[in-house]
Amino acid sequence: MAYESFSEDFDKAKLDVTHELEGGIIFVQNEGECLCIPPFCPMMSFATKTSVLGTYSTITYDNYISMLRKLPLLKAWFTTELAGERKQSEFNCAMLKALDLMLNGEIDPEAGEFDDTYKLSFTENGLLRTLLCTWDEVKDDVVALIGPMDAKVMKDIWSAFLIESKGRECKICGKTIRNKQKLMRKHFVDNHWPKQKVTERIDSMEVLEGDEGEGHEAPLESVEVMEDILCE
Ligand SMILES: [Zn+2]
Repeated sequence: MAYESFSEDFDKAKLDVTHELEGGIIFVQNEGECLCIPPFCPMMSFATKTSVLGTYSTITYDNYISMLRKLPLLKAWFTTELAGERKQSEFNCAMLKALDLMLNGEIDPEAGEFDDTYKLSFTENGLLRTLLCTWDEVKDDVVALIGPMDAKVMKDIWSAFLIESKGRECKICGKTIRNKQKLMRKHFVDNHWPKQKVTERIDSMEVLEGDEGEGHEAPLESVEVMEDILCE
């Protein structure tokens, strides 16, 4: 909340929630030591001598889904960052790519064969069910973050998954759809996509370096790294 109100007018006083924070720790990180910090955990560091700090992020299936619940914070963060639009655009790319891999798998570009390494399967209380149950709760926040081109790609990803899934019912709400090929996309848009129009959105197309053409192929290629870091 502090960050969201800060992003509105960049008033630093609104960030001062230190008196409300609990459970903080302080320590000295020595050369060569690696520290794993949970997502959305505020941190601060002081260098005691000239040093180089390298960081990287990993995304797992688990925290992909929990991340979807934190998108309002990310949206506020992008507006306060240098090159925030580029970062948001790259984030949108990665979010779409990972969703596609989890719901639909992909065609291996080298072997030309279907690769379902990252495709989630239906298991009792499994991650796929969690994702399906979560979608209606987070759809407004997701769509508020993406531009119209990305929105179309995301609808394609969900429609492909819902049409390909076994059975005649919608896997999100359970409603029976008689002709999935014809009607499932409309059912998804009517029932599982936000109604209101959102303004000021950013596509993964718009601010990526180098314009490599139309459609979502180009931006998605730039997030190949996501495939390497998606793991269980
Ligand atoms: Zn449905």
